[in-house]
Parts: sequence; C-alpha cells; structure tokens
Amino acid sequence: MTDNLTFDQLEACLARQPRARLAHLPTPLEAMPNLCAQTDAAALYVKRDDCTGLAFGGNKVRQLEFYFGQAQAEGADTVLITGAVQSNFVRLAAASANHLGMACHIQLEERVPKSEPTYRASGNVLLDRLLGATLHSYPDGEDEAGADARIREIADEIKRAGKRPYVIPLAPGHAPYGALGYVDAALETARQAEAMGIAIDEVVVASGSGHTHAGLLFGLRALGVPARVSGICVRRDAATQRQRIATRCREIAELLEIDNPVAEADVQLSDAALAPGYGRLNPATLDAIGEAARHEGLLLDPVYSGKVMAGLLSRARDGGKDRSLLFVHTGGTPALFAYEPELTKAFSQAAE
Ligand SMILES: *Cc1c(COP(=O)(O)O)cnc(C)c1O
Repeated sequence: MTDNLTFDQLEACLARQPRARLAHLPTPLEAMPNLCAQTDAAALYVKRDDCTGLAFGGNKVRQLEFYFGQAQAEGADTVLITGAVQSNFVRLAAASANHLGMACHIQLEERVPKSEPTYRASGNVLLDRLLGATLHSYPDGEDEAGADARIREIADEIKRAGKRPYVIPLAPGHAPYGALGYVDAALETARQAEAMGIAIDEVVVASGSGHTHAGLLFGLRALGVPARVSGICVRRDAATQRQRIATRCREIAELLEIDNPVAEADVQLSDAALAPGYGRLNPATLDAIGEAARHEGLLLDPVYSGKVMAGLLSRARDGGKDRSLLFVHTGGTPALFAYEPELTKAFSQAAE
C-alpha cells in the first residue's frame, strides 16, 4: 500500500512540471437534477471541462498546457500534431500555438469512413482553417506509429528550414504529459467536491488516447479517493484499452516520480457504446445526446461525450440504485456541425 498524498503534496508534484497556462480553471462542477430524475441514481453531476475557455474548450486544453510547457522549455517555435479529420485536439493545438505565438502543423488522418462535405469542411476542420494552421493529410486512420513517423518527417523538414519543431505524440511509449492535465483535474475535482460537501461514488469518463482516463484515475487514487472510475471506450475495445490505461498509469508514476497508486482492478472499462466504431453514431448515443440537451440544456458531441453520456445513463439505470455519479464533459461540441446530416435526421423526427 502506498500512502495517500494530500492535496498540497499532489499540487507540489505537478508544479515541478513545465506548464503553459491556457485553460480557464477551475471548470464548474454542477448538478444535473432533471437528468437524474430520469434514472435510479441519487445524484448526477457534471464536470464542465467543455468550458476550459480556449477556442470552444474541451479536455485537450488541460493536456496541451503540459505539452506546450515542454515545447517552451525546449525552445520550440513550431508545434506539430496528428489526429482524426474532426479532431478536437488538433483544433486546440492550433489555438494554443496562436495564443503562445508559435506556428502549428496539423496532420489529419483518415480514421472515419465519412465523405459528406460537412464532415470534411465544417466543425473542427473549419476552425483549423480559421486558426491558420498548416494542414497535411495521412491516408490511414489506424496506424498510430505510421502517423507519428510521418509527422516526425515533417518536423525534420521544418528543422532543415531553420525552425525549432516540437511534436506532440499520440501513440503509447512517450511520456504522458497530457495525462498530467487530468491528474490536475482530479485534484481540482476532489477539492470542489469537498468544498461542496458531496461524495461521488463513480466518475464516468471517455477513454480514447487514455490521457484523460489514466490521469483522472491516477490523481484520484493518489489522493486516496475511492470513487470507481468507469472509462467509456470511444476508440478501441475494452481489453485493448485496459492495457493502455494500465501502461499510462505506470508512465505517469515515472514522470511524477511517485509510486503508482492504481491497482489492476481500478481500471474499469466498457465498450458497450463504441459500435460501430470510432466517430460513428449509434442509437444509444443519439438518445443520450437528446436527453442531455432536453433535460439539462447540455450540448454533447457525437464522437466522445455523447457516447460517454450513453455509458453514464446505463450505469445510472443498471449500476445499482442511490449512487452519485459524475459525468466528465470533455467538450468536442464543434463536431456537432460536422455530423449535421445525421443529427438533423435524428432530431427533426423527435421534434415533429
Ligand atoms: C480527445 C477527446 C476525448 C478523449 O480523451 P483522451 O484523453 O484522448 O482519452 C474525449 N472527449 C473529447 C471531446 C475529446 O476531444
């Protein structure tokens, strides 16, 4: 057993890491009473990380604070990043670079088999263009190592042109700087819950690259907060993702130079809302997006937070009565406009 850290001790650990300030923090922690009334839960809360401030916000702003901290520490003037066509991460990397006076190159991977004009031009793609990032494309969407290798080639070209590039890597095997943003979010949430006098039994969060899930889980366990952390798979099946999260937690421990407080049994994942795959809608996700909008005025996205809400509602209805659950809203709302045809079809019927 490792000793729990106090709030101040964990804060001191994080303060040793280079960090650029980008997010509006703390984000609100709010109750969702109307949605709760539709379930068997005692209380439903939402952590509003869609409200991190920069360029429509979202979870990547917290992660980017630590990547840009590294980039600045290395004296970089250009940041490179790879992601899906409708990636929120690349949109926010472009905004962060602009905010900090740096250049940004974005590589967009063909991860989702969608050819509609809205998917290719609206939502995050429109914002990438507006932010003035240099766009590149990569033909394969399930080749993390290949996409990382290609972005490194672009970085080498930029270097030969006299610039100082910094690559934000996505594949495992790199120091998980992004996860530090969510260790910090765990600390922020634990402090808020204590100040509000609420106990949270379960946190429900997206599990994609795993920085958000692993960071939150690590931070909560490091503080001795016993809440179950349920990762909702948005990209890979639960078995594959379980390995990834366990590895990320070990990497966070190395980076922060503290013992890993996360046990194997702490890594909880569900892939029930994933089908038919990354970035593709299913009926439960459309229902969840509709319920959050109608009962709470809360806007969710089709790729991530809608699937996580489907997971939250399922846990709040079948996971046992009288528990209190926290939904982590990771943002992504610009993608709503990229999925306009499917959403119009689903919600115009509901309204008639
Ligand atoms: C990237 C992203 C996620 C997943 O976060 P990871 O840290 O990659 O697991 C969830 N929600 C939104 C809106 C995102 O952009």
